[in-house]
Amino acid sequence: MTRIWKHFIGGKLVDADSYINAYDPCSGAQGAQVADGRAGDVDTAVQSAVQALPEWRDRRPIARGRVLLKIADKIRDRIDHIAEIERYETGKPLWQAKVETEIAAQYFEFYGGLTNVFNGETIGLGAAYHSYTRREPYGVVGVITPWNAPVNQAARGVAPALAAGNVVVSKPSEFTSGSTVMLAEIAVECGLPAGVFNVVLGSGSEVGTAISAHPQIRKVAFTGSIRAAREIGSIAAERIIPLTLELGGKSPNIVFDDADFEEAVSGAVKAFVLNAGQICLAGTRLLVQNSITERFVERLVEELRKVEVGPAEGARVGSITTKAQYERVKQFFDIAREEGAGVALGGTPEKKPEWGEGWFLPLTVYVNVSNNMRIAREEVFGPVLVVIPFEDEADAIRIANDTNYGLAAGIWTQNLGRAHRVAAAVEAGQIYVNEYSAGGVETPLGGFKQSGYGREKGIEALHHYTQLKCVTIKI
Ligand code: NAD
Repeated sequence: MTRIWKHFIGGKLVDADSYINAYDPCSGAQGAQVADGRAGDVDTAVQSAVQALPEWRDRRPIARGRVLLKIADKIRDRIDHIAEIERYETGKPLWQAKVETEIAAQYFEFYGGLTNVFNGETIGLGAAYHSYTRREPYGVVGVITPWNAPVNQAARGVAPALAAGNVVVSKPSEFTSGSTVMLAEIAVECGLPAGVFNVVLGSGSEVGTAISAHPQIRKVAFTGSIRAAREIGSIAAERIIPLTLELGGKSPNIVFDDADFEEAVSGAVKAFVLNAGQICLAGTRLLVQNSITERFVERLVEELRKVEVGPAEGARVGSITTKAQYERVKQFFDIAREEGAGVALGGTPEKKPEWGEGWFLPLTVYVNVSNNMRIAREEVFGPVLVVIPFEDEADAIRIANDTNYGLAAGIWTQNLGRAHRVAAAVEAGQIYVNEYSAGGVETPLGGFKQSGYGREKGIEALHHYTQLKCVTIKI
């Protein structure tokens, strides 16, 4: 299935002068061809967005919401097709691509409804004044997304931006561009005016930089690496524009000895194997109370041996999405070995016959890890877990917070007081108690420390896609 993905600008597909090769991660073979955009394409998209802005922005919110609800329905109508493209471009199992596409529909559904009730406030200044706030869109917003959950992440940024009355120029990863183009096509079919949602394809250095630097783009929402965030951040600092940054993590998943043991084992598995560990929220530092560590690791490994990794339709875990990331994870096997981490599972880049030339990696668990090793401090973004024992509650909190990141944390305990105490003490934007990765489109997502700032999802995202104006009238 060789597909050619073109830009989507002003409501139609637009050719590029050259194309980038994308690859099928499950076989390593050449896959789609992706338009290799230039700064000029970004400018064309921005001009189209600027033209479309007044009509979309000034529409009654209920009418904007109606279009978003139609988009949600149509995503569901096309779920099989979108998920197939997503599977092919990311290497994730089809069932998982379907779940993520359904969540993309939910973003449009949630923000399509929310736009009706998202208003300013009146402020009491006494009888002589009438003072009120308005939540106004920025205008043209840039949405730059990575390759690990493309349709989900595109919808997460685009739906609230549109609901708030902005117009969008988005750029998916050059490795996984298909589903974002499909989303924009669907949106126009559902009555979204041409130019309101544009997609410019290409590299981060060219198209991503051009989006951050374009003088008519008034806000950028970025999901991806700290490296790129720094580059975008320095441009944004120069231009004085706001950013939402959703970056990486090295999230602690803390198991106390009073936890439901079996629930915690399956939660610890889920926390790091989903999407082959290529999830910013992944619980990749498993902190286990020392009284149960040995028994816990034994059971964990037993469960992990049952998890199928490979290209089969029913496999729980698929491949790594890019060749560069595949090589990077393998380097961490060397780093862990050099640091003297103990291997409880995996840890070598084995090749199973059914994996062929695909970028599959074994589920890997390191033990005897101390929190100052690189394998415990750096985000691997692969199916790699480190297990670190702890003494007591204070020790768990200390280790959990000894990181530059702060995206998520899991807490497993049956002690309600402890759950609240630890949830309050851990420095992270998302805390999950007795389940890892709970929440939905309704719950705010974002980081502490180097995991980023601003919030996606929930009603909070609408705050980040609008600017507040206060009007005060003497009466
Ligand atoms: P990346 O930063 O290289 O790329 C992300 C996107 O930014 C891509 O579209 C890319 O083309 C673009 N880009 C790259 N350099 C850019 C630049 N200088 N200016 C503008 N745009 C640029 O990251 P990646 O390799 O695609 O994704 C992996 C990283 O992203 C991991 O560190 C992971 O933790 C993080 N991530 C975070 C979240 C989250 O929600 N917090 C989600 C997914 C991935």
